[in-house]
Amino acid sequence: MVETRVIDGKASAASLRRRVAAAAAELAARSGIVPGLAAVLVGADPASEIYVRSKAKATREAGLAGFEHRLPAAASEAELLALVAKLNADPAIDGILVQLPLPPQIDPQRIIAALDPAKDVDGFHAENVGRLWSGGRALVPCTPWGCLVLLRETTGTLAGAEAVVIGRSNIVGKPMAALLLAEHCTVTLAHSRSRDLPAIARRADILVAAAGRAELVRGSWIKQGATVIDVGINRVAGDGGKSRLVGDVAFAEALGIAGAITPVPGGVGPMTIACLLRNTLIAACRRRGLPEPAV
Ligand code: NAP
Repeated sequence: MVETRVIDGKASAASLRRRVAAAAAELAARSGIVPGLAAVLVGADPASEIYVRSKAKATREAGLAGFEHRLPAAASEAELLALVAKLNADPAIDGILVQLPLPPQIDPQRIIAALDPAKDVDGFHAENVGRLWSGGRALVPCTPWGCLVLLRETTGTLAGAEAVVIGRSNIVGKPMAALLLAEHCTVTLAHSRSRDLPAIARRADILVAAAGRAELVRGSWIKQGATVIDVGINRVAGDGGKSRLVGDVAFAEALGIAGAITPVPGGVGPMTIACLLRNTLIAACRRRGLPEPAV
């Protein structure tokens, strides 16, 4: 039995938001620049509404300028492309976030491809993906960047560690693998067709679960002392007819085996918005050729 440290994502996210706010205040004082983040919401998906609202609040609190653009659920791809072109050209906007998912008549790949890569604070544009994998100066997707911040804070150096990422999405799994590789981990990227996933997971010093499958990773899959980052957010039936959120890792089983683990909620989730603010600040500096704050 090891004593498992429960990683406090809320505290880490608050600390990152404070660092961004301090750097933004310094930027404003030095050069009068207030980084601007535009959030684009098409339709009224309730989960997206909540997310966009909490982003707007966090943006204000960090001293950045937030702009919200709403299009009706029936908006055409051409309308959204026109809005993206307008935001690309707007000097007050440093970051553009198009909230996914989009209605079925709009192809998300065409929208992402139309974004100015320098304002692509989600890090989904092919130019940023290519830079991330080739070691260039990319804007990196927020959730995996948040996971990396938590890992660095928890384990210090990652060099040489055996890292296993479960899930190969463009949003989480693949960029996570790229970031861990850049940190000199030996990386395995597993997915739904991987053979003997428990055995692959048991090799991991660092295990990142991003499959979107409630409690897929059992205690017996975890190596003693491993650091476990649980990205999954799954709503399951709870007691008394209420639903509750669980991760991709069977948390109670992991206690006593993992060296450290992120809880759900309160682990990776809060880091994502904090990283979005960071990316907006970084984008504002890079676009103007200013030195980047180390946040
Ligand atoms: P996604 O696009 O659905 O991708 C899921 C990945 O997991 C796929 O690569 C899939 O493999 C793999 N997978 C599914 N079932 C599996 C299984 N039984 N065994 C092994 N691999 C399996 O999901 P996502 O967008 O990456 O999100 C993953 C999870 O993270 C979700 O729960 C999501 O809600 C959560 N999330 C959280 C945050 C946050 O801020 N905390 C942000 C983004 C996402 P195939 O490729 O073979 O199909």
